[in-house]
Amino acid sequence: MPANLPDRDLGFETRAIHAGQPPDPTTGSVIPPVYLTSTYAQEQVGLTKGFEYSRTGNPTRTMLEENIASLEGGAHGLAFASGMAAITTLLLTLKPSDHIVLGDDVYGGTYRLLDRTLRQYGIAFTLADMTRPDAVEAAITPETKMLWAETPTNPLMKVLDIGMLAERAEAHGAHLVVDNTFASPYIQRPLEHGAHIVVHSATKYLGGHSDVVLGLLVTNDDAVQQHVAFNQNSVGAVPGPLDCFLVLRGIKTLAVRMREHSANAQQVAEYLEAHPAVERVYFPGLASDPGYEVARRQMRLPGGMLSFTIRGGEDAARRFVSCTRLFTLAESLGGVESLIEHPGAMTHASLAGSSIEIGADLIRLSVGIESADDLLQDLDEAFSAI
Ligand SMILES: *Cc1c(COP(=O)(O)O)cnc(C)c1O
Repeated sequence: MPANLPDRDLGFETRAIHAGQPPDPTTGSVIPPVYLTSTYAQEQVGLTKGFEYSRTGNPTRTMLEENIASLEGGAHGLAFASGMAAITTLLLTLKPSDHIVLGDDVYGGTYRLLDRTLRQYGIAFTLADMTRPDAVEAAITPETKMLWAETPTNPLMKVLDIGMLAERAEAHGAHLVVDNTFASPYIQRPLEHGAHIVVHSATKYLGGHSDVVLGLLVTNDDAVQQHVAFNQNSVGAVPGPLDCFLVLRGIKTLAVRMREHSANAQQVAEYLEAHPAVERVYFPGLASDPGYEVARRQMRLPGGMLSFTIRGGEDAARRFVSCTRLFTLAESLGGVESLIEHPGAMTHASLAGSSIEIGADLIRLSVGIESADDLLQDLDEAFSAI
């Protein structure tokens, strides 16, 4: 926390705006400067102001790293070129024959990384239904070094009990990693529930405006921080300073955006649940959702993501996603604008043929912060048009 801020616990909204970014000491600039430099002058050999070369460190990046550490309640933050760069750099701390247990509807990119890229380096993994403690136990082997959880999951919005998973990880000497992309730290802080490492695709809610690709990692574990930072400098998976600036700017409004995303998603979920053309809605803010109770314990709000199955199967789903006008047909999520997609043919197409079952009648929404009435009307018109 910068020295000029009050020396007491500050609220989330305050830290989102100020943590890691005091006014610039040389000019007074209130907004973080974008340090577009690759290298730094040294007064004598080795006598620096803390920066030598921008792959190793850059002041704009440091501000973002301190900011996200504060928001997640962790000691250390690291910023990467993308969410996948953060995940890859972390997984490169593993050795051949090490094993990971992942949720069975893990983010498709993470699955592909393990299945197609890291397999040749001998890193093994097992998919499990991580809502069930017995399934997690059954998947753990003596070589298990990480439990990997996303909650809510993508695209089925299953809610995993972070505290339960942290206990299972501890009991086996493994680390619990939580991909907190869908919730964001405003809604859920996994380290407070015992997770060891948090990763983010800041491309989504943290950036919040669909204009930047960036990844983040937070941990309280000094050894993990040192190992990942060493790997990051070795492999060079770093973000540019302008991208760091964009995420710092996005985070300033994270709390207000997440409140609006959640309120709009709740209205959309209730509308869909009552609609005769909808088979099932997956959203942890509905009392009928299997994740509702755990979500109430570990999430401040249900978030802005939901999925539903439509009657009429794949044909109806494909027609529906091209009939909405405010919900834009696109991959990704977490921006202020509403998006719609067909996971089976888009984000989760790389899972085809794997054990992960994504129905062809499933539609995923990233509910934006437009007027809720307009969003409901857009969905209504799409149901009439198909
Ligand atoms: C998008 C996403 C990622 C990957 O992040 P990129 O920034 O696209 O590399 C990882 N996990 C989840 C849950 C995501 O939604």
